[in-house]
Amino acid sequence: MNNPVLLQNLRNIPDFPIKGIQFKDVSTLFKNPECLRIMVEELYEMFKDKGITKVVGIESRGFVVGAALALRLGAGFVMCRKPRKLPADTRKATYMKEYGEDTIEIHSDAISEDDVVLLHDDLLATGGSMKAAYGLVKEFNPRKVYLNFIIELTIEGLNGRAAFDNETEISTLIKI
Ligand code: AMP
Repeated sequence: MNNPVLLQNLRNIPDFPIKGIQFKDVSTLFKNPECLRIMVEELYEMFKDKGITKVVGIESRGFVVGAALALRLGAGFVMCRKPRKLPADTRKATYMKEYGEDTIEIHSDAISEDDVVLLHDDLLATGGSMKAAYGLVKEFNPRKVYLNFIIELTIEGLNGRAAFDNETEISTLIKI
């Protein structure tokens, strides 16, 4: 937890994409081989005994470590994507963002009731996007769903965990 090498390499971009937001730029963790290794290995240690069969990554920053982790765990990888990107039949969830609505989609045949799912994204802020993805994944009735983020933002009173009930298993590598 809060590995110093990850903390040192995470880039903060003030006022992106709009004034007042401190944007945590995980691209500096993705491009650094040691950081990439640390993230995947720390997550592998957390989840190696959970019987994960599918890692679901949220577009697009959830795809990078999500896919690497799926390979390490011997699991499959599923993309949770923005609207009209997936070519086959999909299930959809629409949710409220700060400005207007957003929709996410997963292929209808991507998850089965036998799966143990690890749902992964880069960062937990308000929890809105993960909550929508979690609801969508639960519609497939998998055996179990774990939620994971690289970064959990707790600064400025953010409490993304409050978007989920106490039974939801949420893990993060870095708390800021
Ligand atoms: P939320 O739905 O509010 O939890 O927002 C999480 C999503 O928005 C993640 O996919 C992040 O990539 C992105 N995000 C929100 N706030 C930030 C931030 N301060 N820095 C970097 N990414 C962010």
